[in-house]
Amino acid sequence: MSKFNALSNIGTFALVCLISLFLTTFSPAHCEDSIDAPPGVGSEAIASFNQGIGLSNAKNYSEAMPKFQEACRQAPGFAEAHAMYGLCLLKLLRAKESIDESAKAYAIDPKLDFVLVNLGSANQMIGHIEEAEMYLQKYLDLYPKGEFAGKATSMIATLQKEIKLRKIVESSKGKDNYLSEATAPGKACWDQLRMPIPVFIQSGDGVKGYQAEYLGILKDAFNQWCTGSGGRIKISFVDKADPLGINCSFIDNPSELVNPMEGGQALISIRDADGVIQKGQIKLLTTNSSFGTGHEKEVLLNICLHEVGHALGIRGHSSQAGDVMFGFMSSPPNLTLSDRDEKTIQQLYSSDQEIGRQ
Ligand SMILES: [Zn+2]
Repeated sequence: MSKFNALSNIGTFALVCLISLFLTTFSPAHCEDSIDAPPGVGSEAIASFNQGIGLSNAKNYSEAMPKFQEACRQAPGFAEAHAMYGLCLLKLLRAKESIDESAKAYAIDPKLDFVLVNLGSANQMIGHIEEAEMYLQKYLDLYPKGEFAGKATSMIATLQKEIKLRKIVESSKGKDNYLSEATAPGKACWDQLRMPIPVFIQSGDGVKGYQAEYLGILKDAFNQWCTGSGGRIKISFVDKADPLGINCSFIDNPSELVNPMEGGQALISIRDADGVIQKGQIKLLTTNSSFGTGHEKEVLLNICLHEVGHALGIRGHSSQAGDVMFGFMSSPPNLTLSDRDEKTIQQLYSSDQEIGRQ
């Protein structure tokens, strides 16, 4: 950030960032060990449940899931089993199914703490941010000092910001683009006379969790935006950092992010006078807590597409979960730009929208 602060004399330092992912890190610590049978739950269901716990503790959610499913079949009133089944579905990025299962647990035991955070997390992933906030608030009301209280508080603040914004910005629902939402925090564009934009990607070698394929994933994200812009945006991958380009790095320490709970961030420096972007920086976290479930490449591509969109000037978020610029991690992850993403970037860079030379 210090590099950007040094540029404050030429423009506004804008933080645009984030897909909020951290809620999916919620895991119930109190299920680390096998549990005693709740009333009405037979030993078979308990055995299946405990097998599931062993597998989920090893982050093997795809094999844990059928164990919990079986426990639910054997004991339909077993709240913890429905909750863990819901958690596995969430970890496997199947948010809608996770909500169905967590709702069953909630109906049996509305005070089960991780059900509330699961429901909060899953609802945010499908764009139901009011519901997400409600469940997290419910959690905080019941467990103000609970193990997820810090994360829930932070997430509620993010959700409330989005909810507030949605009230003042005309919704893009049903429209073929979300330009009004994209530009709600202010307009920003790269100068088309300065295309191609130099893009430098720092080697991720030595960064914990980094995989060689990540470089191609990030490049794919840039290329998708260039294609999606209909040729209005051009980039050039360069071999060394350019002070007036977009510089990208993979990091393994979340504290390097402005909000350590995000999966990545984009920062842009904008000239106050006309909104022209001077430089951009993207950081991508390789130790994301949503990784390790076999879906890390899809999650990373979603994050890359999102952060590159910000670095190219989309400062706001789409309110619709099918767009890569939706403010939260989608379920399933968005792996390609939506038509609306493409139309929005095209409009942002169209001659009558273009800033800087008006
Ligand atoms: Zn964002």
